[in-house]
Amino acid sequence: MTSVPVTAPVSNFLRTIIDNDLEQGRYAGKRWAGKPGPASVQERGEIDSARIRTRFPPEPNGYLHIGHAKSICLNFGLARDYQGACHLRFDDTNPEKEEDEYVHAIIDMVKWLGFDWNYQEEHNGYFASDYFGYMYQFAEALVQAGLAYVDEQSADQMRATRGTLTEKGTNSPWRDRPVQESLTLLREMRDGKHPDGSMALRAKIDMGSPNINLRDPVMYRIRHVAHHRTGTDWCIYPMYSWAHPVEDALEGITHSICTLEFEDQRPFYDWILNQLADLGQLARPLPRQHEFARLHLSYVVTSKRKLLELVREGHVDGWDDPRMPTLAGLRRRGYTPSSIRLFCERLGVSKADSRIDYSILEQALRDDLDPKAGRLVAVLDPVKLVVTNYPEGQTELCHAPRNPHDPEAGMREFPFARELLIERDDFREEPPKKYFRLFPGNTVRLKYGYIVRCTGCVKDADGNITEVHAEYLPDTKSGTPGSDSVKVKGNITWVSAAHAVPAEVRLYDRLFSDPHPDAGDKNFLDALNPASCTTVQAWLEPGAQAAPETRWQFERLGYFVADRVTSTIEKPIINRAITLKDSWAQQK
Ligand code: ATP
Ligand code: MG
Repeated sequence: MTSVPVTAPVSNFLRTIIDNDLEQGRYAGKRWAGKPGPASVQERGEIDSARIRTRFPPEPNGYLHIGHAKSICLNFGLARDYQGACHLRFDDTNPEKEEDEYVHAIIDMVKWLGFDWNYQEEHNGYFASDYFGYMYQFAEALVQAGLAYVDEQSADQMRATRGTLTEKGTNSPWRDRPVQESLTLLREMRDGKHPDGSMALRAKIDMGSPNINLRDPVMYRIRHVAHHRTGTDWCIYPMYSWAHPVEDALEGITHSICTLEFEDQRPFYDWILNQLADLGQLARPLPRQHEFARLHLSYVVTSKRKLLELVREGHVDGWDDPRMPTLAGLRRRGYTPSSIRLFCERLGVSKADSRIDYSILEQALRDDLDPKAGRLVAVLDPVKLVVTNYPEGQTELCHAPRNPHDPEAGMREFPFARELLIERDDFREEPPKKYFRLFPGNTVRLKYGYIVRCTGCVKDADGNITEVHAEYLPDTKSGTPGSDSVKVKGNITWVSAAHAVPAEVRLYDRLFSDPHPDAGDKNFLDALNPASCTTVQAWLEPGAQAAPETRWQFERLGYFVADRVTSTIEKPIINRAITLKDSWAQQK
């Protein structure tokens, strides 16, 4: 599995669509002024040298999560592979929940994933709120063309007259009011002359349409609230369903890729753009919307509301808690950008909704780290091993590859001594069947060191084992001639008690123990895994340098990372990213 290249284009239906569009020259004549704008701006531009334009349009109302990574990798990946541009656009048309804190966190995470929004000299980072002026201009144009009207029904009345899937809607009494009246009211709405909810601008399409989204959708609503960027400049805010296609068109997007739940919106997407292009407001060729299945990952919740609840109620330690499915959390947990890109590549893109098992994400991390992570020995649950026939005070160096996949990385060395620390679980007074590690009378290899024969153990008054005793076989040191003359079945890791580096290690596990924590009417909080974090005092191989974000494979144990927020060289704090094997496999 390690040979799956991270950047190789895997064929998917979107690539087929793009290939077709390029072959037919659908966007060949598209002009681009080097910046977003309506027809009047774009018509003065050159033919766009970007073969396609895509965009990633997050709403700055929360942190990015693993689902967003799929959309990021897809949009930025397609632009890269087709010599195109991908814009980062903050879809900040809804003032209530949007904050600058989220804007910065989103920028950080897209960059961390390895993408940027530059294309040649262009910096394609945009805010939908920058287009409020254009949007308003378009709304007036639609009213003047008789394609939109101001409705004075309440939100409840609009809902009641919208009809159902089986019943047509009924026309508003304001639907056929004179154009001039709607225009005057729209201007008054903009100027703050009317309270929230007293009226709204609606597109005039067809209350009898089988597609409810075409039954005169609301375009502008009145909200007397400040916006994180435009302040109190506006008290009317555009609805997502028309703002989004307009944003795409202003930015010269060719392929507007979104998740399946917007499929029913596509007719309105096309309607609004075609009307505005016919009115000379938007330049053709127009963007087209294509839908793909969103990522549903088992053992995870991605709803921003639920993630916020986990943070606010203290079930986790912030948005970047290493158990969170946010990109900030995955990063702290030890995930690399390339492991997340690899995961997204392996997911592929389809139109069929499916649930992806969490183990696929974990395996991508193992496959990514295995060839590049340095190796280290650590003991997480130590018991002392005394090598009784090894002279007190004596030490000698043992050697181990820094990375078995990379001989050029060279060797590391660490001392062997009379008193060692081993995992408590590597000794049993009475071994179960097929136990090949230490038990009285058995021989095992101390990895990279000597073969030892176990001679017994020492216990305290309560019967707890305080020391394991063994004798070493002098001619068996790893790497010396004849060292393999004695055959053993067990191979255990160890550190010298006097030289090991103490470290706090956080053994993270899945946040939820139910694969579908929020399915049906379940309360996702009931599925919290009580053992999702255990902290232990561990001992690391001497010489371990736990600079923040250093990643290792701890031999036999898994992949670990020095916590990027709290770890220091003097006081290492280390997170377990993932065990070497999938311990959840049997439970599926
Ligand atoms: P939420 O519903 O939790 O608020 P959202 O989808 O509204 O999330 P946005 O910030 O609007 O979040 O999403 C930005 C982009 O990321 C959108 O284009 C959306 O389609 C995409 N996206 C969000 N979640 C997923 C997912 N689980 N899988 C794939 N794409 C996703
Ligand atoms: Mg959204």
